[in-house]
Amino acid sequence: MSIYTKKQQIIAHRIEEKSDESNWKNWKWQVKHTIKSIDKFEWLTGIKFEEEERKQLKETLDTFPLSITPYYLSLIDIENYQHDPVFKQSFADARELTIDKSEYADPLAEDSDSPVEGITHRYPDRVLFHVSNICSMYCRHCTRKRKVGDVDHVPSKAQLLKGIEYIKNTPQVRDVLLSGGDPFMLPDSTIDWLLDQLSSIEHVEVIRIGTRMPVVLPYRITDDLMNILKKYQPVWINTHFNHPREITSSAKAAIRKMADAGFPVGNQSVLLADVNDCPRIMKKLVHTLVQNRVRPYYLYQCDLSEGLMHFRTPVGKGIEIMESLIGHTSGFAIPTYVIDAPGGGGKIPVMPNYIISWSTNKVVLRNYEGVITTYKEPDAYEQRLCDRNCEKCDLELKLDASEEYASTGIEKLLSDSDKSISLVPEGNERYERRHDD
Ligand SMILES: *Cc1c(COP(=O)(O)O)cnc(C)c1O
Repeated sequence: MSIYTKKQQIIAHRIEEKSDESNWKNWKWQVKHTIKSIDKFEWLTGIKFEEEERKQLKETLDTFPLSITPYYLSLIDIENYQHDPVFKQSFADARELTIDKSEYADPLAEDSDSPVEGITHRYPDRVLFHVSNICSMYCRHCTRKRKVGDVDHVPSKAQLLKGIEYIKNTPQVRDVLLSGGDPFMLPDSTIDWLLDQLSSIEHVEVIRIGTRMPVVLPYRITDDLMNILKKYQPVWINTHFNHPREITSSAKAAIRKMADAGFPVGNQSVLLADVNDCPRIMKKLVHTLVQNRVRPYYLYQCDLSEGLMHFRTPVGKGIEIMESLIGHTSGFAIPTYVIDAPGGGGKIPVMPNYIISWSTNKVVLRNYEGVITTYKEPDAYEQRLCDRNCEKCDLELKLDASEEYASTGIEKLLSDSDKSISLVPEGNERYERRHDD
């Protein structure tokens, strides 16, 4: 059951005197009354900022606007707001205006890897489809801060059709990831139309939706919405909990709806200084998630987006957190820690080192307890040359529907069927001096 707390009642009454529980739990009412100014924030929370601080905050909002749902606002611990993870993720900080020279407006080069507006095609078999540029709550750590509050960018059906057309014409795309903004900001009818379009494309095998609604506006997860999504299975949903405090009774009710409707639910967290950069908080977070049937998927190193310096931790903090999880808790409670490569290289997994040494027939490993152990490799292993000719191969591993594709990257170097022996950076002077080809 999602609870309507005393604190929520007070906030609701201040927003609109005649409001009641049914208004509060109506997602459209919540969106209509998102908190966008310092004045309103102060009025609803009773927090008062000093004159000088207020001036700086106002300036910050001119560059990076504010938007907090009444629900998410109600989770702020007002007595201790300066150290509150909900406050820090939702309320402006003057340090956002400090832009370091290592930071970029578009660190992941999403706009460069975009064949048509709205699509980022980075990996061979899947695309990111930005279907909405609005969110109910503006996360202060948003990697797409460059677009936040950019009303001109709410895509029209005609624009969405361009993305759909691209996917239709690109048969290698088997996985479409809807993101934004928050796709669940779209009206039910648009979501229905969009999923209908995508799922009718033969080569699209799965649709994924990335949304923070279960965290910032759980009332958006309605039975009507679930009934629409159900028509287009398989649909995977990824959400974005960063702190165990966000997993409230209302959030749990939203997750339950998604899981009961049959959608696999994953979670992507961002490692944030003073929000969740603590192994104990992270362990509590992943335990609470799996208890509620959410599988921790990624833990992101904070991107190099402009104005996020104060949120960033050293990579060592992430490795320390992974060290505290791997072996210590259930495998399915452990996310993959990734750094999204600046410049658009995609997600790179990062882990503590477990291989200590290696000889021709033995690997020396260490486990989470520090026990050092050895794995003896087989004395004989018959290498089989794989020229990708399944017809002639006697392994009988042949998949009836195995797909042939060109190998890339390190996979290509390992492949027997490809003659490449090295990957050479573009513009390598030594190679450019060569005359042999
Ligand atoms: C994260 C991401 C994906 C999906 O990556 P997975 O590792 O499959 O979850 C796809 N495209 C882009 C551009 C991404 O950033």
